[in-house]
Amino acid sequence: MRKIISGLLIISMFSLLVLPYNVKAESKATTIKGLKAELEELKRQRNINNQNKNNTRSSINQKKQAMYDAYDQKKKAEDDIVAANNKIAECESNIEKTKGETAEILKFSELTSNENVYLEYLMQSTSIADMSMRSKAISLITNYNQDQLQTLSDLIEENERLKVELRQKQADLDVAIGNYNKAIVQLDLYMDELEDVGDDINEQIKNQEELIKYYQKICTSETQLLTDCVKVLASTSLIRPLQKGVVTSPYGSRINPLTGKTTSFHYGIDLGTTAMGVPVYAAANGMVAAVTYKSSCGGNIIYLHHNVNGVAYTTQYAHLLSVNVKVGDTVTNQSVIGYVGGGGSTLKKNGGWDTCSTGVHLHYAVSKGHYLGGGKDGYSSFSTFKAKMIDPGGYFPKKGTWFYRRY
Ligand SMILES: [Zn+2]
Repeated sequence: MRKIISGLLIISMFSLLVLPYNVKAESKATTIKGLKAELEELKRQRNINNQNKNNTRSSINQKKQAMYDAYDQKKKAEDDIVAANNKIAECESNIEKTKGETAEILKFSELTSNENVYLEYLMQSTSIADMSMRSKAISLITNYNQDQLQTLSDLIEENERLKVELRQKQADLDVAIGNYNKAIVQLDLYMDELEDVGDDINEQIKNQEELIKYYQKICTSETQLLTDCVKVLASTSLIRPLQKGVVTSPYGSRINPLTGKTTSFHYGIDLGTTAMGVPVYAAANGMVAAVTYKSSCGGNIIYLHHNVNGVAYTTQYAHLLSVNVKVGDTVTNQSVIGYVGGGGSTLKKNGGWDTCSTGVHLHYAVSKGHYLGGGKDGYSSFSTFKAKMIDPGGYFPKKGTWFYRRY
C-alpha cells in the first residue's frame, strides 16, 4: 500500500516520470517455455529500470550542478555589490575632495579678486591677450571641477542602479535554487521508487530462475504442461530400493539359472532378502507409471517414472508379493511401493511369484527415459525399455555382499 501511495504521489508531482511498465506479481506460464519468456520480459524490465535509474541519477547530478552554479553566481553578485559600495564610497570621497578643491579655488579667487595677488597675477601678463587667458584659466579650473562632480555623481548613480540589479539577480537566483532543490527532492523520491521496483524485479528474476530450474528437473520437455510435471517429483539420485539385501545376480551377461545357457542377458539386478514381505521402496521420488502382472515372467511389476537432476528415468520392480500403489500415485524415495516376493510355489496361485523366479528376491531395473510415459522422453515399447537400460550396480556392493542401508 505504501508503495502505491508513494507511486501516485510521484506521478502527480512528476507527471513526466511515469514508470513505463507494470511489475507482474505472479507467473501465469503453463510450460517451461512460458516461464522462460516471462523471465526474458523480467530481464527487459530490469534493463529499462536500470536505464531509468541512470537517467534519473544524471538528472539529479545536473540539477545539483546547476544549483551549485547558482550559489556561485549569488556569491559573485554579493562580491559585485561590495565592489559597487566601495565605488560609491570612493566617488563620495572624491566628490568631497573636488568640492573642497573648488571651494578653495573660489575662496582664493574671492580673496584675491580685490587684492594685489590676483591683480599681480593678471598684471604679470605680458599683454592684454595673456591677461585674458589667465582670467580664463581660473574659470576653466572651476568648470573642470564642476564637470568632475557631475561625472562622480553619475558614477554613484550608476553603481546604485547596479546594486539594485544585483539584488534582483540574487532574488532570482534564490528562486532558481529553490526550484532546483524541489526538483532534486522529487528526483530523489523517484529514484527511491526505481530502486524499490528494481529490487522487486531482481527478486522476481531470482524466483523465476529457481522455478525454471525446479521444473527443468521434473518436466520431460519445455512444452510439457507444468501441472503434468509436478506429478513426477524431482530427485537428485537413485538409491537402493531395499533397506537390507544382497546382489544375487548382477546386470548383464550371465548363466541363465533356468536354462543354464551363458549367453542370456540379465536385464536388471536381482536382490536377495531374508524373507518374503520385506518392504520395497521407490528408488527415487517419482510417479507410478504402470502396475502390471505377468504370470510368465515378472509377476507383479511396478514401473516408476523419475526425473533425476533433469534426466528422465524409469525403474522397474518385479516378482512382488503385493503392490502398495496405483498408476498416477506420486511417490517419494521413502514410499513403500510393494513387498518382496518371488519364492515358494504356494504363492504362485496368489500371484506372488512367477515361473521365471527361483527364489525370494526383487528384480530391479533402471532404464533411461519414461517407459509408458508421454513427452519427448516417453516411449511405449518394452524392447526400447530394454535397449535404454543401464546397469544399476553402481550403487550396490559386489555380488554376494550384504548391504544394510539404502544408499
Ligand atoms: Zn532378475
